[in-house]
Amino acid sequence: MQSVEQCPQSEAGRRQIGIADAVGNRAARHGSKMKPAPFEYHAPRTVDEAVALLSEVAPHDGRILAGGQSLVPIMAFRLARPAHLVDINGVEALRRLAVEGDRLCIGAGVRHSAFHRLAVEGPLGKLLSTVVRHIAHYPIRTRGTFCGSVAHADPASEWCTVCAALDAEIVARSVRGTRIIPAREFFTGIMTTALAEDELLIEVRLPLLSPQTRFGFYEFNRRAGDFALAMALAVYRLENGRMAEPRLALGGAETYARRMAEAEQALAGRAPAADSFAAAAERAAEAVDPMEDAQTNAEYRRDLVRTVARRALEQSVA
Ligand code: FAD
Repeated sequence: MQSVEQCPQSEAGRRQIGIADAVGNRAARHGSKMKPAPFEYHAPRTVDEAVALLSEVAPHDGRILAGGQSLVPIMAFRLARPAHLVDINGVEALRRLAVEGDRLCIGAGVRHSAFHRLAVEGPLGKLLSTVVRHIAHYPIRTRGTFCGSVAHADPASEWCTVCAALDAEIVARSVRGTRIIPAREFFTGIMTTALAEDELLIEVRLPLLSPQTRFGFYEFNRRAGDFALAMALAVYRLENGRMAEPRLALGGAETYARRMAEAEQALAGRAPAADSFAAAAERAAEAVDPMEDAQTNAEYRRDLVRTVARRALEQSVA
């Protein structure tokens, strides 16, 4: 373990320089100060090693480094000053993207861009490849990870909305063992989750969707690539011309993504048509507890919810 500021010309040093490049501070090559506060860099090769390191450094402000697309910018601004980074990019086992039983398992090393291609046949693959195009810009998608987004839990994360809609299983590993956390228990507030500080999110598991599944996704942001002010994902099975097991999840509107039971009740057993979509969107708008910020008051966001919910549902029949 060496301080980043030492930057020797060793393998560890070259890795440190890689991090320095990521924050845009090439001065580190010449031994001068970097933008982030000093930290110690760790590069485990296995999950066990990563978990052991995390348990050691988490009490001393240690953090996981995945794609770095959220963590590195806030470190560069010194809004986060982790004393240790455990970089999981060298852990081969975490790059797993595979179907196991009736689930798609997405390892912590899988980048957003992996979903531009169909990760799996059928509606789930199509859903993921539709949603991924709304996340930031392509270069960010080539580094950022699915699980990093879920661990970071930005209220406007598309993947968190997917996890909420599909009742994902989130798999956490620590030196105490492995536990599976359902999405509805995982997200607890703005960028706050049920993950303990020494737990590594190793995998997210999404249920495969039957061929009868229909989905629609819609989000609103002021500029392409920005975080959305509100988004909705609608998923249901079409059975005898009616919606079965409807799911409607909202992201970006509240402090964390969640399913809207009130709206789902308005859809269950009805035909996918304009009147049922409008009724469900109205229920979502009534039930939402919108966040407010300097540019967006609660009523504006409530109105957006009505619109994104209806348009997501309309996409399901487009
Ligand atoms: P990192 O930045 O490496 O880590 C983020 C946080 O999660 C850190 O606290 C880290 O310790 C923790 N963490 C990461 N992985 C794990 C793990 N396996 N176990 C435990 N903790 C972990 N995201 C969107 O969803 N939608 C957008 O529209 C969007 N727009 C963006 C626009 C810009 C300009 C930028 C820079 C980013 C944007 N992002 C957006 C964020 C991007 O998707 C990030 O990739 C994502 O939020 C975090 O993933 P990461 O792999 O980069 O994680």
